[in-house]
Order: sequence, then structure tokens, then C-alpha cells
Amino acid sequence: MSIDFTLTAEQVSLRKTARDFAQNILKPIALEADAEPDPQKAFAMMKPAYIEAHKLGLTFGFIPTEYGGSGITNVDLQIVAEEVCAVDPGFGCILLVNGLALLPLLWYGSEEQKRKWLVEATSDQTGEYIAGFNVSETAGTANFDHAGAFPAGLQMTAEYDEANREYVLNGSKYWPSSSGGWDLKGANVNMFIVRTDKHKGGNEGLSAILVPRGTPGMTFKAPIDKIGHRTNQNNWIECDNCRVPEENAFAIGNGDLIVSKAFTWSGPVAGITAVGVARSAFEWTMEWAKTFTAAGDKPIINHQAVGYMLGDVAMRIEASRYLCWKAAHYLDMHDGEGQAFGAMAKIFSTELLFDSVYKCMQIAGVNSLSKEYPLEKLLREAAVLPIYDAGTVGMQRRKVWGVMADKDYDTNAFRNCEPVEFKKSMQGW
Ligand SMILES: Cc1cc2nc3c(=O)[nH]c(=O)nc-3n(C[C@H](O)[C@H](O)[C@H](O)COP(=O)(O)OP(=O)(O)OC[C@H]3O[C@@H](n4cnc5c(N)ncnc54)[C@H](O)[C@@H]3O)c2cc1C
Repeated sequence: MSIDFTLTAEQVSLRKTARDFAQNILKPIALEADAEPDPQKAFAMMKPAYIEAHKLGLTFGFIPTEYGGSGITNVDLQIVAEEVCAVDPGFGCILLVNGLALLPLLWYGSEEQKRKWLVEATSDQTGEYIAGFNVSETAGTANFDHAGAFPAGLQMTAEYDEANREYVLNGSKYWPSSSGGWDLKGANVNMFIVRTDKHKGGNEGLSAILVPRGTPGMTFKAPIDKIGHRTNQNNWIECDNCRVPEENAFAIGNGDLIVSKAFTWSGPVAGITAVGVARSAFEWTMEWAKTFTAAGDKPIINHQAVGYMLGDVAMRIEASRYLCWKAAHYLDMHDGEGQAFGAMAKIFSTELLFDSVYKCMQIAGVNSLSKEYPLEKLLREAAVLPIYDAGTVGMQRRKVWGVMADKDYDTNAFRNCEPVEFKKSMQGW
């Protein structure tokens, strides 16, 4: 039997751990934080939940055991993420960003850098350690790797100071999560994708630089006040002659590949986030449909039109879940390389399931708009998913297109789980 969607005993246990955490610890805190008008206060309110998640191994589970993590697979991560995000995808995003920030070290860092930064995160005894992944900018991000030299593409610069063997960061980032940390004085570490060579295009001139909390020159404005994912902090970061030693830099000239691979890893996670959100909407709406009569003589599920719509929502959730699982499995098989497939899982699930949450609202009717019920929050959360995490248009679809436009693209590669090498020429320029 080579295809089997049943979970192992360990995965069932992992799901129970994640579900118990989400329902009993996360839910009450997240509901209160979602209603808090001040975005920084809302984020800070999540710290106790984060510390509990850390105790359960959910904050850095994706880091291999040799660096102190649990070494969970991408498929295992799907199981955890669905449970957490069925309750609060904003909190799920906090966990996700730890991966976006630290996994690139695993892929592109030196052994020394891995030992320093990954072990620092996994050995934290306070349970508060948090990391930021800083790509997005005010001018726009979709064209981060534009082939033109500065100022096309990413505009934050890091000039090399040869005399002091340091990089000097200047510029701003806009939207990155968690970067301000619990107190808006900085995450424990912030990874920045910066332009280390202003004269080269985005596929040669970008690199990654790690900036620890407390580095002079790095400041944070008030977080962005947004409609969904209110428990997640989105920052406006300024770097003004912010200096770090040269050993904090990695992937010199390959920052573009980091962005593409990181948002490939997160693609199925964002997809399963949409599954979690739509699942919650579906479960609530099923219950409503089986009890609410709308002043008729029977619960509304007895109307065929209502039943058909519920069936459609259920099928979309199932289809999205299995596409995300397969994409995660594919990434497990190929060391996280699967740029088009990871993107497909994200695009398909987040776009389809936003519409499914809205279908649930149509089924439930006018009461779905009331803050007394969960659908209004779920719609706000679902609306974020096709737009955040590299969107679905400017960045994720561009990767799918770039891979498929390559002359060697095998139309059956993903079906057969065969490797597809990602080349800079596939970035869509
Ligand atoms: C909750 C949340 C968390 C986030 N966390 C982070 C984080 O941790 N780190 C981080 O760096 N960012 C983060 N972001 C930002 C997020 O990753 C965005 O996806 C990213 O900034 C890109 O935005 P965009 O797709 O809207 O691009 P923009 O550059 O703003 O482009 C806007 C639109 O223009 C169109 N467009 C632009 N260029 C092209 C093109 N070449 N081809 C086709 N269409 C194009 C597309 O429709 C695109 O959606 C977060 C955002 C949210 C909401």
C-alpha cells in the first residue's frame, strides 16, 4: 500500500497535543486579544500562549534534533498547523514566522551559524524566544528580485565595511511579523533580506543578514492595525547605520533563493491554515443549519439548496487538505525544494477556502455578520490568507509560471514526486 492517508499513532498524539493546546489554552486568550483595539497590546497578550506552546515543542519543532528541535516533518507540521489555525491563524502565523526566519540558516548557513543561532532558539529557557523574517518593504515586495539594479526590487541596503569587517544596514521594512518582539524593542533575532550589491539585479545582489535584539540603529514604529490576524504583529522597521559583524551574513548573492524557498516551505502551511479556518466555519455552520429554522417548520439543512452548499464546502476542505499534505510530503522528500508545488498548495487552498467561508455566511444568513458568532472573525482571518505570505498573484503564481516555462519542465513531475530543480532563471524575469 503506497498511498495511505491515515495518521500514525505518533501523529494522532501530536494532533491531540495541538488540539488540546488550541482549544483550552489558545482560544480564550486569542478571542480577547482579537477584540483589543491596540495591535501591540493584542500581540503582547499572546505571550502566555506562546510560552505554553514552547513547552509543548510547538515553537521550534521544525528544527532538526541535532540543533535542539524536535525535527518534525512538513507533514507533521500540517497536522499541528491545522489544529492551531482552526482556533487562531494569527497565532499560527507567529509560529510560522519562526520557521521563515530560521530555516534559511539550515538551508544556506554555515555549520557554525547553525550551531549559534538555531541552538540559541531551541535552548531558550524563558519560552519567549521569537524570530523575525524581514523581506517586505513600503515600496512593494512582489518584485523583490527584480532583475534591475537598485532601486528596483528590495531597497534596504547592507554595505560592507571592510576595515571593521561589518555590514551596515540602512532602510526600512514594512509588514514583517514578530520583528518588534513582545515589547516592541526587537525580536530575539531578526533575519533581513537586504541588497548587499546595489549595482547588481535581485538575482545576484541580495543576501541574508541576522540582527540580534538590542543592536543600535534598529527601531520599530507602532505595528500595523489590520482587519484579520490581529494577534500577529506586523511591523514597520527602520535600520539607520545598523552594524553587525560579517559572520552574521549568509547566502551572499542568493537572498532571492532564500525568499523563494522560504515562501515555498510556508506555502502548504498557509494552505492548511485555510483548511483550519474553513473547517471551523463549516463545523459551526453545520450545527446552525441543523438547529436554526429561519421561522420555517424545520431546520434549514432540510432545504436542498442549503445542503448542496454545505456539501460543496466540505469537498473543498477535503480537497485542499490533501493537496497541502501531498505538497508537504513532496517538500519532505526533496529537502524543501518544490517551489511550484508549495505555491500551488497555497494558491489553491487559500483562494478556494476564502470563498467557502463566505459560502458558510450565506448559508447561515444575516446572523453570520454578528460579532456574537464566529463567522465574522473567520472571514476576516480567511481574507488574509491569499494576500499574506507572498500573496497568490505577484510572487506565488510567478514561481509556478517560472517553473513551468522552463524548457525541461516535466508535466508529470509532481504527480510522480520527482525532483524539480529550482533555477534562478525560473524566477519569472
Ligand atoms: C499577517 C501577515 C504577516 C506577514 N508576515 C510577513 C513577514 O513575516 N515577513 C515579510 O517580509 N512580510 C510579511 N508579510 C507581507 C507579505 O508576505 C506580503 O505577501 C508581501 O509583502 C508581498 O506583498 P504583495 O504580494 O501584496 O506585493 P506588492 O509588492 O505589494 O504587490 C501588490 C500587488 O501587485 C501585483 N503585482 C506586483 N508585481 C507583480 C508581478 N511581477 N506580477 C504580477 N503581479 C504583480 C500583485 O497583484 C500583488 O499582489 C505579512 C503580511 C501579513 C498580512
